[in-house]
Amino acid sequence: MEDLNKKFLMQYIDEIQEELRDISDKIWENPELQYKEYYASNLQKEYLRKYDFNIDELEGMDTGFVASYGEGKPVIAVLGEYDALDGLSQKISITKEPILESGAGHGCGHNLLGTGSMGAVVAIKELIKLKKIKGTIKYYGCPAEEDLSGKVLMIKKGFFDGIDCAFSWHPFDINTPIRIPTLANYSVKFRYNGISAHAAQAPYNGRSALDAVELMNIGCNYLREHIFDSCRVHYVTTNGGKMPNIVPDFAEVWYYIRGVKMEHVRDVFDRVVDIAKGAALMTGTSMEYNIISGVYDYIPNTILTDILSQNMKLIGTQNYDENDYYFAEELAKTVSIDKRISVSSVLSGNKDITRMALHDEVTDDTFTHNNCISLSLDIGDVSYITPTAQCSCSVWPIGISAHTWQSCASAGSNMGFKAMLLASKAIACSISDVMLDESIVGKAKKELKDTIGNFEYIPII
Ligand SMILES: [Zn+2]
Repeated sequence: MEDLNKKFLMQYIDEIQEELRDISDKIWENPELQYKEYYASNLQKEYLRKYDFNIDELEGMDTGFVASYGEGKPVIAVLGEYDALDGLSQKISITKEPILESGAGHGCGHNLLGTGSMGAVVAIKELIKLKKIKGTIKYYGCPAEEDLSGKVLMIKKGFFDGIDCAFSWHPFDINTPIRIPTLANYSVKFRYNGISAHAAQAPYNGRSALDAVELMNIGCNYLREHIFDSCRVHYVTTNGGKMPNIVPDFAEVWYYIRGVKMEHVRDVFDRVVDIAKGAALMTGTSMEYNIISGVYDYIPNTILTDILSQNMKLIGTQNYDENDYYFAEELAKTVSIDKRISVSSVLSGNKDITRMALHDEVTDDTFTHNNCISLSLDIGDVSYITPTAQCSCSVWPIGISAHTWQSCASAGSNMGFKAMLLASKAIACSISDVMLDESIVGKAKKELKDTIGNFEYIPII
């Protein structure tokens, strides 16, 4: 039976697509870095005010906001982002051509991520207004996803209190609901203070902070054999002294510790701290550390992800034209087939899929091939406090990686925008399902409770 609400939502999003395109293009043309997204957040706030949303500015967070419409339960969050990446400036072109040398660019497609989520809530608002569905819709303008802190701080400040469930999406190369976790991550800087001395004349008077960093790294490299398979430990030395003939009295090393489960990451983190203390003891230096940021792994909620999946399949894909296919094929040619297979297999699991350049269907089998997406997203924290579902849409060609000039070019193109419309419609239709069936939120919450048990969510920052 045809669902008239969903038909309405899809048509409505098509009707406002020019407005959405204008906003996503303007954000793409004005890339802003973390916590400096004034232009993008103001543009979105202005648009949502025009559609009768109530805007809450967030104290202590200039470029974050929450836009609400409706009343009562369920209260559904839709997450948007709009920050860009340094050094990824790029024209909408099939060759590498920065608009501004070393400038910022939307290599993660957040111009579309935010605008697509916003399109979904505007369409849902119209259904609430027509009294076809009941509940409250909230759009979250989330700053600074790229440094993995925006949503964590928003949770910490209580901006997510009272939410019943959340939906989002992310630009990638494949159209699929996301059924696998991302990695939990601790980002930590370890600093050593020692005693400076002339390295030739009086080295016995010195206590080298750099020695401590090196011994810490050696300790951590021996640790690798004895940590959970999914865990990753990587580091860079951010300060190793000034000259060889001065025993460094200060050195700093920056670590990421990641894994599929936060409980594993916490365990490895505690052991890395012990190693860091040991290095200080061995070298007669002192050590302090501070946690720069940290996010949880993403827990896909099956109840909600199933709904998102059904709606993606219902919508099918967008009407790509010859120019879109040509653009995708030319961009795909800039990356070797081996690299494309390794990237595309994360979300599709299907090696043959790289025969195509542009994913123009919906697949749903990520969980059968992979146990995680090897990157970290701050939506992970949201998924620990409320049932959460997200999907990926093919903003860039199959096998192209995020954070590249090719993904930046795609995020500004017609092809990328059409993929965004799929996300927008799928999220809107899924919210309609949740608002019409009161039992869904209860089941989704029970699933989350069963998954995390007594594990206590504590924001890392
Ligand atoms: Zn991103």
